Amino acid sequence: FLGRAVPIKDENGEVIQWIGTCTEINEFKQFQQQKDNFLGIASHELKTPLTSLKLYSQFLEKNLRKQDDDKNADVAMKMDEQINKLTSLVNDLLDVTKIQNGKILLNRSEFDFDELVHEVVEEQQMSTRHRIYVDAESIGTITGDRNRISQVMTNLISNAIKYSPDSDKIQITTKLTEEGCAHFAVKDYGIGIPEDKKDKVFEQYYRVSGSKEYTFPGLGLGLYISSEIIKRSGGRIFVNSVEGKGSEFCFEVPKTN
Ligand code: ADP
Repeated sequence: FLGRAVPIKDENGEVIQWIGTCTEINEFKQFQQQKDNFLGIASHELKTPLTSLKLYSQFLEKNLRKQDDDKNADVAMKMDEQINKLTSLVNDLLDVTKIQNGKILLNRSEFDFDELVHEVVEEQQMSTRHRIYVDAESIGTITGDRNRISQVMTNLISNAIKYSPDSDKIQITTKLTEEGCAHFAVKDYGIGIPEDKKDKVFEQYYRVSGSKEYTFPGLGLGLYISSEIIKRSGGRIFVNSVEGKGSEFCFEVPKTN
């Protein structure tokens, strides 16, 4: 059984009664299962119209540019950017369903780690005012799932950008560890993470609340998915952070496994 209780207090704050519920674990598990199934079906169904919308917005932008109608072409471009954000949210929901069903399979092959870092940074740099600096020790070829590792790098860099609204510098460092692992780190000078929340950020749906100045959009899934990918790649992911000063998210994956 799963118990939950809430205290009822009198005007002096003294507890006078507890009201509780007791749910059978089986019932709870069944509910979780139904929720996961619903998420899986809903995100899958959302994906098809999103793919069409993306094609239409790109088609529209191209044609408007051809007609020198830059004002409307810019609107179509903004539409496309929002479709990208929606697609990435839906992809995260799909990934969570895959993780829960044990269906997130890694497609391993040999690839050039340095080239991937360069590619991801270049793409992120195109859509941000932050300056992304890279201090890269050559790693060379590694064996792993290129797309999934790229997803983790993208997630860490886009978080660094999102959670540093008052700074404009991001530092990426790569190096080869003594154990022969590829080490990738993203350092930002943003809001940071309170000491007692550092481990929790890798949990599903967990979001640190508390910034009075800013609200940050998100579902709290990116780091959970990233940590599952890195764990399944035989590596580890961790964070160093000081609240109010910034964070450094790192992952290490074996060069061959
Ligand atoms: P999301 O960003 O969608 O909320 P994530 O799983 O990527 O989800 O991150 C979980 C939480 O960890 C975020 O809500 C935020 O509170 C915290 N976090 C992640 N990256 C950073 C960062 N670079 N700086 C400060 N906090 C961060």
